Amino acid sequence: MELNDKVVIITGASSGIGAATAELLIEKGARLVLGARRVDKLADLANKYPDANVVYQQTDVTKFEDLEDLVQLAKERFGRVDVLFNNAGIMPTAPLVDRKLDEWQQMLDTNIMGVLHGIAAVLPTMVEQQSGHIIATDSVAGHVVYPNSAVYCGTKFAVRAIMEGLRQEQKDNNIKSTIISPGTTDTELYQTINDAEDSQMIYKMQKEIGIKPQDIAKAVVYAIDTPAEVTISDMIIRASKQS
Ligand code: NDP
Repeated sequence: MELNDKVVIITGASSGIGAATAELLIEKGARLVLGARRVDKLADLANKYPDANVVYQQTDVTKFEDLEDLVQLAKERFGRVDVLFNNAGIMPTAPLVDRKLDEWQQMLDTNIMGVLHGIAAVLPTMVEQQSGHIIATDSVAGHVVYPNSAVYCGTKFAVRAIMEGLRQEQKDNNIKSTIISPGTTDTELYQTINDAEDSQMIYKMQKEIGIKPQDIAKAVVYAIDTPAEVTISDMIIRASKQS
């Protein structure tokens, strides 16, 4: 199937990597279903492209029913789902000794359960279609552990394990699994950090050495635009100056 026929669901499409990927896919003519909590941002993005096939719906990935509704919307409007881009995530870093139990829970609920909710919502449809592609935004932090980021790294290590398990379980149903691991990227992610010192440090790093979300979007589109017999299972896209 050509890219411009594909139906792609994107979570976390209201800013950063998700929004950049949506815009690149719109340029390529794909049909899109966008989800995030800030529905006004989704509306702004869709309104920029009045001729594109884009629908959107307020979505909180911590709620399984929101993902089910997003898949339902895709099927009602476009009749199928070819790609789910599980991209939503947060990164409230802090040292473990600060005991930020609420933030830990939010990260588990968003970064891990959010991905699992997407998988659970879309998999029955893809199995029935006997085709599909699930992509997750992981991180270099899913490969390397940094101080103050133990829980965030833990969520991203988990996503990598889940996505590799998905690939192995679903390959015979022609369902692909792709793990995209960005390095430092200049997005709004630093705003999810409540620790003032950490937030300032990450903001500075994003501005000084961060790559553009559009660079990650290109990697996502490259993974999507492969023939059925080719799976890009794992990509790391680092900022060149990142250690
Ligand atoms: P942004 O903060 O710009 O984007 C994050 C997106 O996730 C937003 O659209 C936000 O939308 C959405 N989101 C957060 N929580 C929820 C939720 N509960 N339900 C639905 N959507 C949610 O940052 P990025 O673009 O950088 O982040 C995208 C992904 O990239 C994340 O998974 C992040 O971990 C990962 N990543 C980012 C890196 C970076 O340096 N920027 C490096 C490596 C990985 P809304 O608030 O409207 O719900």
